[in-house]
Amino acid sequence: MANTLGIIKPDGVRRKLVGKIISRIETAGLIIRGLRVLKLSRSEAEKFYAVHEGKPFFNSLVDFMTSGPIVVMVIGGHGAVERWRDLMGATDPAKSRYNTLRREFGTSVEKNVVHGSDAEDTAKVEISFFFKEKDILPKE
Ligand code: UDP
Ligand code: MG
Repeated sequence: MANTLGIIKPDGVRRKLVGKIISRIETAGLIIRGLRVLKLSRSEAEKFYAVHEGKPFFNSLVDFMTSGPIVVMVIGGHGAVERWRDLMGATDPAKSRYNTLRREFGTSVEKNVVHGSDAEDTAKVEISFFFKEKDILPKE
C-alpha cells in the first residue's frame, strides 16, 4: 500500500471539475485518504515547486498555482504513485494518452488540471507539505 499526493489545480477547481476528478480516482480503485481545499500563498507555491526554480516556466507556474483555490488529496492504494500518474497523463495535455485527465481537461502544458507526485519518496515529502499525520486515514 502506498500513498501519493494529488492536487486539483486552480483551473480544475475554477471549471468545477472536482467531482469528476475524484470520481475517476475512486472508479480506478484508489482511495481518498486525505482531502483539503486551500489557496497557496506565493511563498508556499515557490517552496512546493522549488525543484523547478530557475526554469523559464517557474514564475508563471507560481502565478498560476496561486491564482485560485486548489484541492489537495492523499491518494492511496497499491502502486498509487504510478496509477495516479497514469490517470493524469503526460505533463503536456497535447501529448497525453486519451482517457487521461490532462488530455481531457488540460488546456496547456501549464494549465494541466492536476498534479501528482513522481515517486514514493517525493510523495512522502509532498504529503507532509499539506497534511499532518492525524489528518490522513491510516492504511489498512
Ligand atoms: N510546467 C510548465 N511548463 C513546462 C513544464 C511544466 O508550465 O514546460 C508546469 C506544469 O503545470 C507542470 C508543472 O510545471 O505540471 C511541474 O512540471 P513537471 O515537469 O514536474 O511535470 P509534472 O510532474 O506535473 O507532470
Ligand atoms: Mg513533477
